[in-house]
Amino acid sequence: MIKKIKKPMIVFHLSVECFPVAKVGGLADVVGALPKYQKKLGVDAKVVMPWYNKPFVQEHEYEVVFDGFIHQIHHTFQVLVLKEKHDVLGYELYLVKIPGLLDRDQVYGYFDESQQFIAFQHAVLHWLSSMKIRPDVLHCHDYHTGLVPFMVEHCPDFEFLKGVKTIGTIHNGEYQGTMDWQMSNYMPRFDAWKWGFLDWNGRINPLATMIKCCNEFTAVSQGYMTELFEEAQGLQDLIKQEHQKAHGIINGIDTEVWDPQTDKMLFENYNIKTANKGKKANKEFLCNEFHLNPDLPLYAFIGRFAGEKGADMLPDIVRRSITETQGALNILILGSGNPQIENTLKQLREEFYVNFAMDLGYKEDLSHKIYAGADFLLMPSRVEPCGLNQMYAMRYGTIPIVRYTGGLKDTVADVSSGGYGLNYTFPGSDDAVHAIKRALYLYGSKKEMNNLRKIIMNLDFSWEKSAKNYITLYKKK
Ligand code: ADP
Repeated sequence: MIKKIKKPMIVFHLSVECFPVAKVGGLADVVGALPKYQKKLGVDAKVVMPWYNKPFVQEHEYEVVFDGFIHQIHHTFQVLVLKEKHDVLGYELYLVKIPGLLDRDQVYGYFDESQQFIAFQHAVLHWLSSMKIRPDVLHCHDYHTGLVPFMVEHCPDFEFLKGVKTIGTIHNGEYQGTMDWQMSNYMPRFDAWKWGFLDWNGRINPLATMIKCCNEFTAVSQGYMTELFEEAQGLQDLIKQEHQKAHGIINGIDTEVWDPQTDKMLFENYNIKTANKGKKANKEFLCNEFHLNPDLPLYAFIGRFAGEKGADMLPDIVRRSITETQGALNILILGSGNPQIENTLKQLREEFYVNFAMDLGYKEDLSHKIYAGADFLLMPSRVEPCGLNQMYAMRYGTIPIVRYTGGLKDTVADVSSGGYGLNYTFPGSDDAVHAIKRALYLYGSKKEMNNLRKIIMNLDFSWEKSAKNYITLYKKK
Protein backbone atom coordinates (compact mmCIF):
# COMPACT_ATOMS: atom_id res chain seq x y z
CA MET A 1 0.00 0.00 0.00
CA ILE A 2 1.32 3.45 -0.87
CA LYS A 3 1.52 5.60 2.22
CA LYS A 4 0.07 9.05 1.67
CA ILE A 5 2.61 11.70 2.56
CA LYS A 6 1.05 14.48 4.58
CA LYS A 7 1.90 17.88 3.17
CA PRO A 8 3.12 20.38 5.73
CA MET A 9 0.81 23.21 6.64
CA ILE A 10 1.75 26.36 4.71
CA VAL A 11 1.70 29.60 6.70
CA PHE A 12 2.48 33.04 5.35
CA HIS A 13 3.45 35.61 7.97
CA LEU A 14 2.55 39.07 6.67
CA SER A 15 4.40 41.90 8.38
CA VAL A 16 6.09 45.22 7.69
CA GLU A 17 9.03 44.36 10.00
CA CYS A 18 11.23 41.28 10.26
CA PHE A 19 14.64 40.98 11.90
CA PRO A 20 17.27 41.22 10.47
CA VAL A 21 15.75 42.66 7.29
CA ALA A 22 14.07 45.71 8.82
CA LYS A 23 13.63 46.31 12.55
CA VAL A 24 12.03 49.12 14.50
CA GLY A 25 11.00 47.15 17.58
CA GLY A 26 9.75 43.86 18.95
CA LEU A 27 7.50 43.13 15.97
CA ALA A 28 10.63 42.51 13.91
CA ASP A 29 12.13 40.17 16.48
CA VAL A 30 8.94 38.12 16.68
CA VAL A 31 8.36 37.82 12.94
CA GLY A 32 12.06 37.06 12.43
CA ALA A 33 12.08 34.21 14.93
CA LEU A 34 8.63 32.59 15.03
CA PRO A 35 8.74 31.05 11.51
CA LYS A 36 12.12 29.50 12.29
CA TYR A 37 10.69 27.72 15.31
CA GLN A 38 7.52 26.75 13.46
CA LYS A 39 9.59 25.14 10.74
CA LYS A 40 11.27 22.99 13.38
CA LEU A 41 7.76 21.84 14.31
CA GLY A 42 6.98 20.78 10.75
CA VAL A 43 5.07 23.84 9.53
CA ASP A 44 6.15 25.44 6.28
CA ALA A 45 6.24 29.04 7.56
CA LYS A 46 7.30 31.91 5.29
CA VAL A 47 7.54 35.67 5.67
CA VAL A 48 6.19 38.27 3.24
CA MET A 49 7.13 41.90 3.83
CA PRO A 50 7.67 45.14 1.91
CA TRP A 51 10.96 45.78 0.11
CA TYR A 52 13.18 48.38 1.83
CA ASN A 53 16.33 50.12 0.80
CA LYS A 54 18.29 48.53 3.65
CA PRO A 55 21.63 46.72 3.96
CA PHE A 56 20.15 43.23 4.36
CA VAL A 57 18.10 43.70 1.20
CA GLN A 58 21.08 44.99 -0.78
CA GLU A 59 23.44 42.29 0.43
CA HIS A 60 21.44 39.21 -0.56
CA GLU A 61 20.40 37.59 -3.81
CA TYR A 62 16.81 37.48 -5.03
CA GLU A 63 14.78 35.99 -7.82
CA VAL A 64 11.63 37.63 -9.19
CA VAL A 65 8.74 35.25 -8.60
CA PHE A 66 6.00 37.64 -9.65
CA ASP A 67 5.79 40.69 -11.88
CA GLY A 68 2.37 42.28 -12.17
CA PHE A 69 0.27 45.37 -11.55
CA ILE A 70 -2.24 46.75 -9.10
CA HIS A 71 -4.51 49.77 -9.56
CA GLN A 72 -5.13 52.44 -6.94
CA ILE A 73 -7.56 55.16 -8.03
CA HIS A 74 -6.04 56.56 -11.23
CA HIS A 75 -2.63 55.00 -10.79
CA THR A 76 -1.28 51.70 -11.93
CA PHE A 77 1.65 50.41 -9.88
CA GLN A 78 4.05 47.69 -10.82
CA VAL A 79 4.30 44.88 -8.25
CA LEU A 80 7.40 42.76 -8.01
CA VAL A 81 7.68 39.88 -5.57
CA LEU A 82 11.29 38.93 -4.87
CA LYS A 83 12.24 35.71 -3.15
CA GLU A 84 15.51 35.58 -1.26
CA LYS A 85 17.41 32.83 -3.09
CA HIS A 86 19.16 30.90 -0.34
CA ASP A 87 16.70 30.94 2.59
CA VAL A 88 19.44 32.45 4.73
CA LEU A 89 16.98 33.12 7.54
CA GLY A 90 15.97 29.48 7.74
CA TYR A 91 12.65 30.07 5.96
CA GLU A 92 11.44 31.58 2.69
CA LEU A 93 11.50 35.36 2.63
CA TYR A 94 9.49 37.32 0.07
CA LEU A 95 9.84 41.06 -0.48
CA VAL A 96 7.11 43.01 -2.20
CA LYS A 97 8.46 45.90 -4.20
CA ILE A 98 6.17 48.56 -5.62
CA PRO A 99 8.24 51.31 -7.26
CA GLY A 100 7.04 54.65 -5.94
CA LEU A 101 5.37 53.16 -2.86
CA LEU A 102 7.24 50.20 -1.36
CA ASP A 103 10.84 51.04 -2.15
CA ARG A 104 11.82 53.33 0.72
CA ASP A 105 14.57 53.59 3.34
CA GLN A 106 12.40 53.47 6.47
CA VAL A 107 9.55 51.32 7.70
CA TYR A 108 7.36 54.10 9.10
CA GLY A 109 6.88 57.82 9.03
CA TYR A 110 5.79 58.62 5.49
CA PHE A 111 2.86 60.93 4.69
CA ASP A 112 1.32 58.26 2.43
CA GLU A 113 1.73 55.43 4.93
CA SER A 114 -1.95 54.37 4.74
CA GLN A 115 -1.71 54.10 0.99
CA GLN A 116 1.54 52.16 1.29
CA PHE A 117 0.07 49.59 3.68
CA ILE A 118 -3.12 49.16 1.62
CA ALA A 119 -0.97 48.62 -1.46
CA PHE A 120 1.19 46.04 0.35
CA GLN A 121 -1.84 43.99 1.39
CA HIS A 122 -3.45 44.34 -2.03
CA ALA A 123 -0.23 43.31 -3.78
CA VAL A 124 0.29 40.21 -1.61
CA LEU A 125 -3.22 38.93 -2.24
CA HIS A 126 -3.02 39.80 -5.92
CA TRP A 127 0.21 37.81 -6.22
CA LEU A 128 -1.14 34.78 -4.35
CA SER A 129 -4.42 34.78 -6.30
CA SER A 130 -2.76 35.25 -9.70
CA MET A 131 -0.23 32.50 -9.07
CA LYS A 132 -2.87 30.22 -7.55
CA ILE A 133 -0.93 29.93 -4.29
CA ARG A 134 -3.37 29.00 -1.56
CA PRO A 135 -1.71 28.86 1.86
CA ASP A 136 -3.40 27.16 4.80
CA VAL A 137 -3.01 30.25 6.97
CA LEU A 138 -2.38 33.95 6.49
CA HIS A 139 -0.95 35.22 9.76
CA CYS A 140 -1.37 39.01 9.92
CA HIS A 141 0.83 40.98 12.28
CA ASP A 142 -0.51 44.29 13.63
CA TYR A 143 -2.77 46.78 11.90
CA HIS A 144 -0.48 47.17 8.88
CA THR A 145 -1.81 43.86 7.61
CA GLY A 146 -5.16 44.05 9.39
CA LEU A 147 -7.20 44.56 6.22
CA VAL A 148 -6.12 41.20 4.81
CA PRO A 149 -8.81 39.15 6.63
CA PHE A 150 -11.41 41.51 5.16
CA MET A 151 -9.91 41.52 1.66
CA VAL A 152 -9.72 37.72 1.54
CA GLU A 153 -13.42 37.39 2.25
CA HIS A 154 -14.93 40.45 0.61
CA CYS A 155 -12.86 41.41 -2.44
CA PRO A 156 -14.06 39.60 -5.56
CA ASP A 157 -10.59 39.73 -7.11
CA PHE A 158 -9.30 37.40 -4.40
CA GLU A 159 -12.10 34.85 -4.71
CA PHE A 160 -9.42 32.16 -5.03
CA LEU A 161 -8.32 32.82 -1.44
CA LYS A 162 -11.78 32.90 0.11
CA GLY A 163 -11.94 30.65 3.13
CA VAL A 164 -8.20 30.68 3.83
CA LYS A 165 -7.76 30.86 7.58
CA THR A 166 -6.64 34.25 8.85
CA ILE A 167 -4.98 34.85 12.22
CA GLY A 168 -4.38 38.37 13.52
CA THR A 169 -1.77 39.17 16.15
CA ILE A 170 -1.90 42.40 18.14
CA HIS A 171 1.67 43.33 18.97
CA ASN A 172 0.61 46.80 19.98
CA GLY A 173 -3.01 47.95 20.20
CA GLU A 174 -1.98 51.58 20.70
CA TYR A 175 -1.46 51.83 16.96
CA GLN A 176 -4.56 51.09 14.90
CA GLY A 177 -3.86 52.79 11.56
CA THR A 178 -7.17 54.65 11.44
CA MET A 179 -7.82 56.61 8.27
CA ASP A 180 -10.44 58.75 6.67
CA TRP A 181 -13.16 56.99 4.68
CA GLN A 182 -11.82 58.69 1.55
CA MET A 183 -8.99 56.15 1.71
CA SER A 184 -11.48 53.42 0.78
CA ASN A 185 -10.84 54.58 -2.80
CA TYR A 186 -7.36 53.10 -2.48
CA MET A 187 -8.68 49.67 -1.55
CA PRO A 188 -9.07 46.86 -4.06
CA ARG A 189 -12.73 46.46 -5.15
CA PHE A 190 -14.83 45.16 -2.26
CA ASP A 191 -18.46 44.25 -1.63
CA ALA A 192 -19.79 47.70 -0.78
CA TRP A 193 -22.46 46.40 1.61
CA LYS A 194 -19.69 44.93 3.78
CA TRP A 195 -18.37 48.42 4.58
CA GLY A 196 -19.32 47.97 8.23
CA PHE A 197 -16.38 45.61 8.72
CA LEU A 198 -14.02 48.45 7.86
CA ASP A 199 -15.63 51.06 10.06
CA TRP A 200 -15.08 51.95 13.68
CA ASN A 201 -16.50 55.23 14.92
CA GLY A 202 -16.78 56.76 11.46
CA ARG A 203 -13.27 55.93 10.29
CA ILE A 204 -11.59 53.00 8.65
CA ASN A 205 -9.80 51.18 11.44
CA PRO A 206 -7.58 48.32 10.18
CA LEU A 207 -7.00 46.89 13.66
CA ALA A 208 -10.76 46.78 14.30
CA THR A 209 -11.23 45.20 10.86
CA MET A 210 -8.66 42.54 11.70
CA ILE A 211 -10.44 41.70 14.95
CA LYS A 212 -13.83 41.54 13.24
CA CYS A 213 -12.83 39.54 10.18
CA CYS A 214 -10.06 37.13 11.19
CA ASN A 215 -10.75 33.58 12.34
CA GLU A 216 -8.78 34.00 15.57
CA PHE A 217 -6.78 36.83 17.05
CA THR A 218 -4.03 36.92 19.60
CA ALA A 219 -2.28 39.42 21.83
CA VAL A 220 1.40 38.90 22.62
CA SER A 221 0.83 37.96 26.26
CA GLN A 222 -2.06 36.81 28.41
CA GLY A 223 -1.53 39.80 30.71
CA TYR A 224 -1.93 42.20 27.78
CA MET A 225 -4.98 40.41 26.40
CA THR A 226 -6.66 40.73 29.78
CA GLU A 227 -5.89 44.46 29.81
CA LEU A 228 -7.25 44.91 26.27
CA PHE A 229 -10.67 43.76 27.46
CA GLU A 230 -10.69 46.77 29.79
CA GLU A 231 -8.86 49.36 27.70
CA ALA A 232 -7.84 49.13 24.08
CA GLN A 233 -7.83 52.70 22.80
CA GLY A 234 -11.54 52.51 22.04
CA LEU A 235 -11.63 48.90 20.83
CA GLN A 236 -12.34 47.29 24.21
CA ASP A 237 -16.05 46.77 23.46
CA LEU A 238 -15.21 45.13 20.15
CA ILE A 239 -12.68 42.87 21.84
CA LYS A 240 -15.28 41.88 24.41
CA GLN A 241 -17.80 41.11 21.65
CA GLU A 242 -15.24 38.97 19.86
CA HIS A 243 -13.93 37.30 23.01
CA GLN A 244 -14.41 33.78 21.66
CA LYS A 245 -11.69 34.41 19.11
CA ALA A 246 -9.28 36.03 21.59
CA HIS A 247 -6.11 34.34 22.84
CA GLY A 248 -3.01 35.48 24.73
CA ILE A 249 0.23 33.89 23.50
CA ILE A 250 3.43 35.16 25.04
CA ASN A 251 6.32 35.96 22.73
CA GLY A 252 9.50 33.97 23.00
CA ILE A 253 13.01 35.09 22.26
CA ASP A 254 15.34 33.82 19.59
CA THR A 255 17.86 32.02 21.76
CA GLU A 256 20.19 31.57 18.79
CA VAL A 257 20.47 35.32 18.21
CA TRP A 258 20.37 36.19 21.91
CA ASP A 259 23.00 34.00 23.48
CA PRO A 260 25.76 35.58 25.60
CA GLN A 261 27.96 32.60 24.87
CA THR A 262 28.03 33.17 21.10
CA ASP A 263 26.86 36.78 20.61
CA LYS A 264 29.49 38.39 18.36
CA MET A 265 28.48 41.87 19.43
CA LEU A 266 29.70 41.42 23.01
CA PHE A 267 33.07 42.51 24.32
CA GLU A 268 33.49 39.12 25.99
CA ASN A 269 31.30 36.05 25.70
CA TYR A 270 30.14 34.20 28.79
CA ASN A 271 27.78 31.51 30.04
CA ILE A 272 26.19 30.74 33.39
CA LYS A 273 29.43 29.37 34.79
CA THR A 274 31.51 32.34 33.67
CA ALA A 275 28.80 34.97 34.14
CA ASN A 276 30.44 36.92 36.96
CA LYS A 277 33.68 37.36 35.11
CA GLY A 278 32.01 37.87 31.72
CA LYS A 279 29.55 40.46 32.91
CA LYS A 280 32.28 42.32 34.75
CA ALA A 281 34.38 42.53 31.58
CA ASN A 282 31.42 43.75 29.52
CA LYS A 283 30.51 46.28 32.18
CA GLU A 284 34.03 47.64 32.33
CA PHE A 285 34.10 47.98 28.58
CA LEU A 286 30.77 49.80 28.55
CA CYS A 287 31.70 52.09 31.44
CA ASN A 288 34.98 52.91 29.77
CA GLU A 289 33.15 53.85 26.55
CA PHE A 290 30.75 56.12 28.42
CA HIS A 291 33.17 57.42 31.08
CA LEU A 292 31.30 55.89 34.00
CA ASN A 293 32.74 54.37 37.15
CA PRO A 294 32.46 50.54 36.77
CA ASP A 295 32.46 50.04 40.55
CA LEU A 296 28.96 51.48 40.82
CA PRO A 297 25.85 49.51 39.87
CA LEU A 298 24.83 50.17 36.28
CA TYR A 299 21.14 50.66 35.47
CA ALA A 300 20.15 50.80 31.82
CA PHE A 301 17.16 51.67 29.67
CA ILE A 302 16.84 50.62 26.03
CA GLY A 303 13.83 51.60 23.99
CA ARG A 304 11.69 54.00 22.06
CA PHE A 305 11.17 57.38 23.69
CA ALA A 306 7.40 57.04 23.75
CA GLY A 307 4.72 57.51 26.40
CA GLU A 308 3.92 53.77 26.42
CA LYS A 309 7.49 53.04 27.47
CA GLY A 310 7.28 55.62 30.26
CA ALA A 311 10.17 57.44 28.57
CA ASP A 312 8.81 60.85 29.56
CA MET A 313 9.51 59.84 33.18
CA LEU A 314 13.16 59.07 32.48
CA PRO A 315 14.51 62.58 33.16
CA ASP A 316 12.80 62.65 36.55
CA ILE A 317 13.92 59.09 37.31
CA VAL A 318 17.53 59.92 36.38
CA ARG A 319 17.66 63.13 38.40
CA ARG A 320 15.99 61.71 41.48
CA SER A 321 17.76 58.39 41.64
CA ILE A 322 21.16 60.01 41.31
CA THR A 323 20.55 62.82 43.77
CA GLU A 324 18.59 60.78 46.31
CA THR A 325 21.31 58.12 46.45
CA GLN A 326 24.11 60.72 46.50
CA GLY A 327 25.47 59.38 43.23
CA ALA A 328 25.65 55.74 44.33
CA LEU A 329 24.60 54.43 40.94
CA ASN A 330 25.05 54.98 37.23
CA ILE A 331 22.38 55.15 34.55
CA LEU A 332 22.88 54.53 30.84
CA ILE A 333 20.12 55.19 28.33
CA LEU A 334 19.93 54.08 24.71
CA GLY A 335 16.98 55.21 22.66
CA SER A 336 15.38 57.75 20.42
CA GLY A 337 11.98 59.20 19.66
CA ASN A 338 10.22 62.18 21.20
CA PRO A 339 12.57 65.16 20.60
CA GLN A 340 11.56 66.86 23.83
CA ILE A 341 12.64 63.84 25.86
CA GLU A 342 15.87 63.66 23.86
CA ASN A 343 16.64 67.32 24.62
CA THR A 344 15.84 67.08 28.32
CA LEU A 345 18.09 64.03 28.62
CA LYS A 346 20.89 65.84 26.79
CA GLN A 347 20.68 68.65 29.34
CA LEU A 348 20.73 66.16 32.21
CA ARG A 349 23.80 64.58 30.72
CA GLU A 350 25.61 67.92 31.12
CA GLU A 351 24.49 68.23 34.71
CA PHE A 352 25.02 64.60 35.84
CA TYR A 353 27.87 63.55 33.56
CA VAL A 354 29.57 61.60 36.37
CA ASN A 355 26.65 59.20 36.83
CA PHE A 356 24.59 59.47 33.69
CA ALA A 357 25.34 58.68 30.05
CA MET A 358 23.25 58.22 26.98
CA ASP A 359 23.34 57.41 23.30
CA LEU A 360 20.67 58.58 20.95
CA GLY A 361 19.60 56.50 17.99
CA TYR A 362 18.87 52.93 17.07
CA LYS A 363 21.95 50.79 17.71
CA GLU A 364 21.50 47.04 17.64
CA ASP A 365 25.14 46.39 18.44
CA LEU A 366 25.22 48.68 21.46
CA SER A 367 21.93 47.27 22.75
CA HIS A 368 23.51 43.81 23.00
CA LYS A 369 26.51 45.25 24.81
CA ILE A 370 24.22 46.96 27.29
CA TYR A 371 22.16 43.84 28.00
CA ALA A 372 25.46 42.13 28.79
CA GLY A 373 27.18 44.90 30.73
CA ALA A 374 24.37 46.36 32.84
CA ASP A 375 23.42 45.14 36.30
CA PHE A 376 19.77 46.20 36.05
CA LEU A 377 17.41 47.02 33.19
CA LEU A 378 14.72 49.62 33.74
CA MET A 379 11.30 49.31 32.11
CA PRO A 380 8.98 52.00 33.52
CA SER A 381 6.35 51.14 30.87
CA ARG A 382 2.80 52.40 31.01
CA VAL A 383 1.83 49.83 28.39
CA GLU A 384 3.91 46.78 27.51
CA PRO A 385 2.12 44.24 25.30
CA CYS A 386 4.82 41.64 25.87
CA GLY A 387 8.18 43.31 26.17
CA LEU A 388 11.23 41.51 24.93
CA ASN A 389 13.87 43.61 26.67
CA GLN A 390 13.26 42.02 30.06
CA MET A 391 13.71 38.56 28.56
CA TYR A 392 16.91 39.53 26.72
CA ALA A 393 18.17 41.12 29.93
CA MET A 394 17.54 37.99 31.98
CA ARG A 395 19.20 35.75 29.40
CA TYR A 396 22.25 38.01 29.74
CA GLY A 397 22.12 37.90 33.55
CA THR A 398 20.76 41.44 33.99
CA ILE A 399 18.01 41.92 36.54
CA PRO A 400 14.88 43.66 35.23
CA ILE A 401 13.12 46.43 37.17
CA VAL A 402 9.67 46.73 35.63
CA ARG A 403 6.32 48.35 36.02
CA TYR A 404 3.84 45.54 36.57
CA THR A 405 1.85 45.64 33.32
CA GLY A 406 1.01 43.52 30.24
CA GLY A 407 3.64 40.96 29.39
CA LEU A 408 5.85 42.17 32.22
CA LYS A 409 3.30 40.66 34.59
CA ASP A 410 3.74 37.30 32.87
CA THR A 411 7.52 37.33 32.89
CA VAL A 412 8.89 39.28 35.87
CA ALA A 413 7.79 38.21 39.34
CA ASP A 414 9.29 40.20 42.23
CA VAL A 415 12.15 38.84 44.34
CA SER A 416 10.02 39.45 47.42
CA SER A 417 7.51 36.84 46.20
CA GLY A 418 9.94 34.21 45.01
CA GLY A 419 10.60 35.83 41.64
CA TYR A 420 13.77 37.02 39.99
CA GLY A 421 13.27 40.70 39.23
CA LEU A 422 11.82 43.82 40.79
CA ASN A 423 8.44 45.18 39.93
CA TYR A 424 6.13 47.97 41.02
CA THR A 425 2.51 48.73 40.34
CA PHE A 426 1.88 52.42 39.80
CA PRO A 427 3.26 54.14 36.72
CA GLY A 428 5.22 57.12 37.93
CA SER A 429 8.71 58.13 38.90
CA ASP A 430 8.03 57.80 42.66
CA ASP A 431 7.58 54.06 42.46
CA ALA A 432 10.28 53.65 39.83
CA VAL A 433 12.84 55.44 42.02
CA HIS A 434 11.76 53.37 45.00
CA ALA A 435 12.36 50.17 43.01
CA ILE A 436 15.75 51.48 41.90
CA LYS A 437 16.68 51.98 45.56
CA ARG A 438 15.51 48.47 46.39
CA ALA A 439 17.80 47.20 43.66
CA LEU A 440 20.66 49.09 45.26
CA TYR A 441 20.23 47.00 48.42
CA LEU A 442 20.26 43.87 46.33
CA TYR A 443 23.45 45.00 44.65
CA GLY A 444 24.99 45.32 48.11
CA SER A 445 24.82 41.56 48.52
CA LYS A 446 27.24 40.02 46.06
CA LYS A 447 26.08 36.53 46.93
CA GLU A 448 22.43 37.30 46.24
CA MET A 449 23.26 39.10 42.99
CA ASN A 450 25.36 36.22 41.75
CA ASN A 451 22.68 33.69 42.67
CA LEU A 452 19.95 35.66 40.98
CA ARG A 453 22.06 36.14 37.87
CA LYS A 454 22.54 32.42 37.48
CA ILE A 455 18.86 31.70 38.01
CA ILE A 456 17.63 34.23 35.46
CA MET A 457 20.16 33.14 32.86
CA ASN A 458 18.69 29.66 33.17
CA LEU A 459 15.04 30.65 32.69
CA ASP A 460 13.39 29.33 29.56
CA PHE A 461 11.95 32.11 27.38
CA SER A 462 12.46 30.24 24.13
CA TRP A 463 9.87 30.11 21.38
CA GLU A 464 9.19 26.36 21.50
CA LYS A 465 6.03 26.48 23.60
CA SER A 466 4.52 29.60 22.04
CA ALA A 467 5.30 28.44 18.50
CA LYS A 468 3.30 25.30 19.32
CA ASN A 469 0.43 27.35 20.72
CA TYR A 470 0.17 29.27 17.45
CA ILE A 471 0.12 26.02 15.50
CA THR A 472 -2.69 24.72 17.70
CA LEU A 473 -4.60 27.87 16.81
CA TYR A 474 -3.91 27.42 13.09
CA LYS A 475 -5.44 23.95 13.33
CA LYS A 476 -8.47 24.97 15.37
CA LYS A 477 -11.74 24.12 13.59
P1 ADP B 1 8.54 47.69 21.18
O1 ADP B 1 7.25 48.15 21.75
O2 ADP B 1 9.47 48.83 20.91
O3 ADP B 1 8.40 46.78 20.02
P2 ADP B 1 9.74 45.40 22.55
O4 ADP B 1 10.22 45.22 23.94
O5 ADP B 1 8.72 44.41 22.07
O6 ADP B 1 9.24 46.89 22.38
O7 ADP B 1 10.99 45.29 21.57
C1 ADP B 1 11.98 46.24 21.54
C2 ADP B 1 13.13 45.72 20.70
O8 ADP B 1 13.79 46.84 20.11
C3 ADP B 1 14.19 45.00 21.51
O9 ADP B 1 14.86 44.08 20.66
C4 ADP B 1 15.14 46.14 21.90
O10 ADP B 1 16.42 45.68 22.22
C5 ADP B 1 15.13 46.94 20.61
N1 ADP B 1 15.43 48.36 20.74
C6 ADP B 1 14.60 49.34 21.16
N2 ADP B 1 15.21 50.54 21.08
C7 ADP B 1 16.46 50.31 20.61
C8 ADP B 1 17.58 51.15 20.29
N3 ADP B 1 17.52 52.46 20.46
N4 ADP B 1 18.69 50.57 19.81
C9 ADP B 1 18.74 49.23 19.64
N5 ADP B 1 17.74 48.39 19.92
C10 ADP B 1 16.59 48.91 20.38
